[in-house]
Amino acid sequence: MKQEYIYNLTLPELIIFSEKEGYTKGNALALWKNLYRNKVESWAECVNVNEKYLTAIKKQYSLQLPQVKIKRIATDKTVKFLLELSDGNLIESVLMHNKYGMSLCITSQVGCNMGCSFCASGLLGKKRDLMVGEFISQIMVANQYIKKNIASAKVVTNVVIMGIGEPFDNYENFKKAVTILKEENGLAIASRKITVSTSGLSPQIINFANDNININLAISLHAPNDEMRSKIMKVNKVYDIKNLMGAVDYYLERSNKRITFEYILFKNINDNLECARELVKLIGSRTKKISVNLIPYNEVDEFSQYQRSLKETVLKFYDELKKNCINVSIRLEYGSDIEAACGQLRSNQLQ
Ligand code: SAH
Ligand code: SF4
Repeated sequence: MKQEYIYNLTLPELIIFSEKEGYTKGNALALWKNLYRNKVESWAECVNVNEKYLTAIKKQYSLQLPQVKIKRIATDKTVKFLLELSDGNLIESVLMHNKYGMSLCITSQVGCNMGCSFCASGLLGKKRDLMVGEFISQIMVANQYIKKNIASAKVVTNVVIMGIGEPFDNYENFKKAVTILKEENGLAIASRKITVSTSGLSPQIINFANDNININLAISLHAPNDEMRSKIMKVNKVYDIKNLMGAVDYYLERSNKRITFEYILFKNINDNLECARELVKLIGSRTKKISVNLIPYNEVDEFSQYQRSLKETVLKFYDELKKNCINVSIRLEYGSDIEAACGQLRSNQLQ
């Protein structure tokens, strides 16, 4: 019998399974704490779990984590993991030290179908969606690494779903994975410490608002008008900026949270002051609700049409937004010496 992955289950699902097998909610909770608090690496390490119950679990579920194929450690201690899933597919996660703790950027799909013209993750298209447990296992791998290698830190404290893939194109699994991340008897990561980034799938932004998932939302904008955005991001041909802003307003009305617009600066394409002013106009009266994160482009060999903007251009763009009362930041770069750009390590491996 093929075993299911234990990390696919939410706590209520584990309880339902356990009760069906004749065990109690308490048995399930004890197991859950072993998985997510004690972070056991094998069933043998479980403590305070009913033996017969554990035998029933072992028969049906595996807790085998993906194998770390490559681990690259940058000079700033950022670690990039290339992970091999049980079917041989490769994904990436990136562990960063920041002033708040340890942040892990995780993958949501094997590849990506959105075809943004600058992104290495989209180069080979999407092979499949990640299962719920494959989202979670990336945190478990990073936690093991931290436990064994970083004396000053204990666990992953922040999760950003900004690695390979479009999380809103794998919405149901993404949603369940967030429930597991937040579950208070387990990993217990606070909502405000989890961020998801989407390329702008408007219908899913509406679902995200309705489902009250309540984590931070970032939207990859990268251009202030349709003509430019459609050239950079294919998704804009389906959900143009007007449509996207409709979803943005819907979300802002229903949540108390802000949105971050991510804006990669490409040299001589979207980095002039005219673009900055257009962006100010687009944000309009939403300055208290929308902030902008300017991202330095990580150049990718296959996309020679895109280069990183010069530092002084970035600063001028920043000043123009600031002058117009936009809450703006410039993304700190992590691990630039280890191909930390989204999907870069995987695509180079596959080639
Ligand atoms: N698919 C989602 C989340 C994953 S991409 C999205 O597009 O938002 C996460 C972020 O990395 C996006 O803002 C994306 O535009 C950006 N990104 C992708 N490739 C990059 C590169 N080479 N340099 C800098 N940022 C990049
Ligand atoms: Fe996919 Fe995001 Fe890359 Fe676009 S930027 S191809 S949506 S991973």
